[in-house]
Amino acid sequence: MRALKQGRKFILPPSLLAALYIGLIATALVATAAAAPGSGSFAEEAARGMGVAAASMLTAQFISSGRIKALSSGVGLDVILGFHRFAASMLLWFVALHVLAFVAPTLAQGPARAGQHLLTLLTSPRMLTGVFAVAGMLAIVVASVKRDAWMKYEVWRLTHGLGALVVLALTGHHVMTTGTASFAPGLWAFWLIVFGAAGVAFAHIYVGRPLLARRVSWRLDAVTKLTPRLLEVTLTQTRGPAFSFIAGQFVWLNFRPGFAQPFDNPFSIASGPEELPRMRFLIKAVGDLTRSLPDLPPGADVSVDGPHGDLIVEGRAARAILLVAGGVGLAPLIGVLRSLAAQGDKRPIRAIYAAGVKENLVYAEEMRAMESQLNLVNFFTVDEASPDWTGGVGPIDATLIRRALDGIDRDHTLALICGPTPMMIATADMIAEEGVPLSSIIYERFAYD
Ligand SMILES: Cc1cc2nc3c(=O)[nH]c(=O)nc-3n(C[C@H](O)[C@H](O)[C@H](O)COP(=O)(O)OP(=O)(O)OC[C@H]3O[C@@H](n4cnc5c(N)ncnc54)[C@H](O)[C@@H]3O)c2cc1C
Repeated sequence: MRALKQGRKFILPPSLLAALYIGLIATALVATAAAAPGSGSFAEEAARGMGVAAASMLTAQFISSGRIKALSSGVGLDVILGFHRFAASMLLWFVALHVLAFVAPTLAQGPARAGQHLLTLLTSPRMLTGVFAVAGMLAIVVASVKRDAWMKYEVWRLTHGLGALVVLALTGHHVMTTGTASFAPGLWAFWLIVFGAAGVAFAHIYVGRPLLARRVSWRLDAVTKLTPRLLEVTLTQTRGPAFSFIAGQFVWLNFRPGFAQPFDNPFSIASGPEELPRMRFLIKAVGDLTRSLPDLPPGADVSVDGPHGDLIVEGRAARAILLVAGGVGLAPLIGVLRSLAAQGDKRPIRAIYAAGVKENLVYAEEMRAMESQLNLVNFFTVDEASPDWTGGVGPIDATLIRRALDGIDRDHTLALICGPTPMMIATADMIAEEGVPLSSIIYERFAYD
């Protein structure tokens, strides 16, 4: 488990996040029971409790959207977004139970009677906003699952945020117009807190942060093609309070700063804080935005929002460091290496870097040069070796991990991994099997599907 307070960063263990969520659901159930004790059959009370819990779980979705820096930096963006997706399915279950509990008593009279009751309930004018809210939730979840096949990412981001706001408003209306105990003092206060928190989170994400980002200006210096698909992007801060970050973190970059959300994308900073006010990024051209970067004119304005993320060495107790990168996953790790080199770090560092072909091992020369500056040993490996290749061949396997960890204190080694998700999962398992504590193996996903 990640420690509670590590150096400059406040790191929240995922188990605390889960406990807070369970606490929210329990509070919703207790507040409902206390607001209208014994005011209906057991099924009615259960239905009401499920409804209140579902509404409060909906408000938690706004806070866990991954855009609240304190949370995404605290538990890691992948953890918070994984939680957001899990909580969305939990929310749908609670909504289903909320409806079913109302119908449950008529089930004893047969499925036809129960079906009729359900239909009457759902078509009643009083229930209109509730029914639309549920339809909206379903649409949001299905669109998120089918996102890549159905629409452009930016369209999804926009509709996801606005759709969620509409669902929240419909839910609020449903709660206030059909909830028999909604205005009881305890429950009223509960609504004020949870709906208020969701509103504040939404305003912070869509208004506060874009406005804050406007106080700071960054200039695009250059976009350099390192390979046909890998770009080095360099920015320099030109205005605003001095930016600071910890090596390994990422920022949301908006190359069209006239537009606020949803036109920003996350990219890891591939340089160390020692290079500020300049920042470098290693970006793979995979889609609309990243392919269009070489066409941007030098001098263009770029907005930077961050820093976020916890793929960092600073503030973590470690006697040795293992870095494992696959392809463009080198981006945050070369930032870490550059920073360690600038600080003259003395700890043993082992770096494993894998790519398809040797040409794609960008910055390998720089990493080799760092071996004389740092206590660093590099292990390069490619899928397809050319005749002049002298490094490793094939995917990262247990033998390579064992070689890299040879002679270093595994109990006190910090492992940072970044690359394709299957590679990260397999590598993390292998590193753990070699004796590095699970709590010291940190990885960052570039994709969340
Ligand atoms: C924490 C983090 C750090 C990252 N760091 C880097 C990096 O250093 N270098 C790099 O090349 N890539 C990085 N990525 C991935 C990068 O954000 C996407 O490749 C990029 O946003 C694709 O945009 P596009 O418009 O070119 O592609 P699109 O065609 O729009 O999308 C291609 C795929 O990229 C993903 N994607 C698109 N936009 C976003 C977004 N705003 N947020 C999350 N995912 C998105 C989607 O899954 C989509 O299917 C990082 C991602 C995350 C989450």
